[in-house]
Amino acid sequence: MKLSPKDLVYLDNNATTAVAPEVFEAMKPFLTEFWGNPSSAYRFGSQVHAGVEEAREKIAALLGADPKEIIFTSCGTESNNAAINSALEVTGKKKVVTTAVEHSAIINPCERLQKKGIEVVFLPVRSDGTLDVAEVAKAVDDRTAVCSVMWANNETGVIFPVEEIAALCKRRGVLFHTDAVQAISKIPIHLKTNQVDMLSLVGHKLHAPKGVGALYLRRRTRFAPTLVGGHQERGKRGGTENVASIVGFGRACELAGAQMTEKNTRVRALRDRLENEILARIPDVYVNGHRDLRLPNTTNVAFDFVEAEAVLLLLDKADICASSGSACTTGSLDPSHVLKAMGLTPARARGAVRFSLSVDNTDRDVDRVLEILPGIIQRLREISPLHHGHRDNEKYDVEAARARFEQEQSHESESEVATA
Ligand SMILES: *Cc1c(COP(=O)(O)O)cnc(C)c1O
Repeated sequence: MKLSPKDLVYLDNNATTAVAPEVFEAMKPFLTEFWGNPSSAYRFGSQVHAGVEEAREKIAALLGADPKEIIFTSCGTESNNAAINSALEVTGKKKVVTTAVEHSAIINPCERLQKKGIEVVFLPVRSDGTLDVAEVAKAVDDRTAVCSVMWANNETGVIFPVEEIAALCKRRGVLFHTDAVQAISKIPIHLKTNQVDMLSLVGHKLHAPKGVGALYLRRRTRFAPTLVGGHQERGKRGGTENVASIVGFGRACELAGAQMTEKNTRVRALRDRLENEILARIPDVYVNGHRDLRLPNTTNVAFDFVEAEAVLLLLDKADICASSGSACTTGSLDPSHVLKAMGLTPARARGAVRFSLSVDNTDRDVDRVLEILPGIIQRLREISPLHHGHRDNEKYDVEAARARFEQEQSHESESEVATA
């Protein structure tokens, strides 16, 4: 049976967001009427080209950038890969400096580069998830092709001092890139007043459709394309443009820029109420990440003596969507690399659940979680071997716990059948 979003409490907006109705409306004509190729010379093409350029202006306006500095891509992952690859190619240098808590769209390409002989430094973070600029200063040198530090972390929401790091890199003549996928629309960004050279963003995290992203490339920054083909995007990214999605992305950025502070203040209030009430109603809960230097929409909470996967499963049964970090690691029992880098014990990291809100959420959503969650945690703790006097048992048998949990689940569905 399909689950309708109407029945859902969706608190996983750092994974993806709903397409805003205004965004869909803006896209429609470009899927029905204006389907020409924007590169074609006739008017049926050039009117489509105009739609793409208008979107470019709207995205640039949100970032305080020049439209000529925006290159459309297919996703945040592509933008990140393109930035790192280009920096290595144009500088001919063989060192990359990044952090241990980046999204897999930076970590994995960097690990692959390492295998190819590139030196990669994965900088540590503090226990509250924040990054010490002194660590960056130690690592960035004249052998460095690029320093890439995310603007805000997708798992904890922690914000990094990217403008300070960008300035440091500029002084040392090193290119600076930031994965700003989570920061865009949640905190103000003015690229005219900082020294960021390259910045990645993506549509589907701000109420545009999936499959469209952008790379900001500061004017006069040397660039070598990763996708080589036609002359689209001034030769910086080949491939016929995803026109309708680009138009939607532009509209989404325009919407995000309007009353941004007011909207984020409302989201922050919802997030804070959710977080404070969880802390008040459930014992042995910890917030992961600095509570002030943080995006307004994200809370990452560790529930001791439980497995996040079990919590998520029971939340899902109650039609509540949350996550245990990044969508890319869901399903694996490995604790999050972000929480590990923050020094959490594996046991505590495995109990971490991320709730990420958006402008679409309401007080009712928060109420629903607060109604359901304490019972879920209590039930899971009752069957946990770690609970009650077993706190120091680090050799928690995950398989046995999972088996016990599944057994409980099957008993439950049997009794559901019996009472049906
Ligand atoms: C979602 C996300 C990405 C990847 O975006 P895709 O559209 O999946 O390629 C990259 N970085 C961060 C911080 C993200 O949250």
